[in-house]
Amino acid sequence: MNIHEYQAKEIFRKAGIPIPPGEVATSAAEAEAIARKFGGTVVVKAQVHAGGRGKAGGVKLAKTPQEARDVAEKILGLTIKDLPVKKVLVTPAADIETEAYVGVIVDRASKRAVFMVSPAGGIDIEQVAAETPEKLMRYPVDPRYGLMPFEAMELGFFLYDDVKKARAAAKIMQQLYSAFVSSGGSLAEINPLVTTPAGDVVALDAKMVIDDNELDRYPAIAALRDESSEDPSEVDARNANLTFIKLDGNVGCVVNGAGLAMATMDLVKYYGGDPANFLDIGGSSNPEKVVNALRIITSDPNVKAILFNIFGGITRTDDVANGIVTATKQNPLKVPIVIRLTGTNEEIALKILKDNGFSAMTDMDEAVKKAVSLATGAAA
Ligand code: GDP
Ligand code: MN
Repeated sequence: MNIHEYQAKEIFRKAGIPIPPGEVATSAAEAEAIARKFGGTVVVKAQVHAGGRGKAGGVKLAKTPQEARDVAEKILGLTIKDLPVKKVLVTPAADIETEAYVGVIVDRASKRAVFMVSPAGGIDIEQVAAETPEKLMRYPVDPRYGLMPFEAMELGFFLYDDVKKARAAAKIMQQLYSAFVSSGGSLAEINPLVTTPAGDVVALDAKMVIDDNELDRYPAIAALRDESSEDPSEVDARNANLTFIKLDGNVGCVVNGAGLAMATMDLVKYYGGDPANFLDIGGSSNPEKVVNALRIITSDPNVKAILFNIFGGITRTDDVANGIVTATKQNPLKVPIVIRLTGTNEEIALKILKDNGFSAMTDMDEAVKKAVSLATGAAA
């Protein structure tokens, strides 16, 4: 789950990280009022689940409240990486002397949290890694001890020669680690971590990604979800208890079980196609789930053919067949559908489908080949 900068800043602040104050506005007038309250130059920042807002025109300095109103007006009209901007953060501008990067991510290979720090901050860390890897330090954290003070100091000195700044950065990194662990994070990032002419070390940006599987343990974090900033089809799927991930291809897949879903996607690729999504309707599928799955898949204009691949164990294939019949009665399909089902109540399912004008097959290879050819034929 992604959260907004202002929400991540709140979490980081609670952990003790020095961050300038800030308030959120949903209108230009509100932004003006907040700027007036803070006084002096402010920064107006788009709150969307995307990085690189600065380059996209989503981060602007404003010297007066009137100017804050004008830039907020512009930013609230922006769409950054397909995401419409609905909120801006207004925060007093800091004087920047240097910009550094500090991040911690879960590294699956080493099964540890890994710190990534660089004195070359403010820009994409991917760019630093590719062009000047010597300016990026990776530091795995032993989960038994967390980030020890001497380790944090080593990271601090990688950023700054000055001992006072290195100490301040070290403290911030320990605080970042505790915020990361105690929120179920899979990523926590400060870019830029700046030094000011007064010698302070301050976090000007904040980003956090929460591991979806941790949300049950952290209800306060789960409550930060902003559905209006998420992909509508993924929101719809989550509310329907379906595991759904949107992809770029044109074969819409409806499958029961994550393993079979992966195998189905592999086979679609193998036969030269591209899946439009990963969708797992789960073990005990009631017809309702099939109706929801079809609604979500057909709302994607890229989908040129739909492939059902159902292996009936706990899942009763007649339930799935009924779901297909109900769903297509409610919303007649505009694209071809290929149905493969086998297993529990297979004969009943095949009869239901046949009686309602559908053909179905039991062989997975044949079904996938057919769906791919229908999708590519339609796309050509
Ligand atoms: P991002 O582009 O989405 O990562 O947004 P950031 O919050 O990192 O802002 C982008 C850039 O705007 C930063 O790297 C800074 O150079 C600049 N910026 C952000 N906040 C301030 C500020 O308080 N003062 C000044 N002078 N520049 C800022
Ligand atoms: Mn940033």
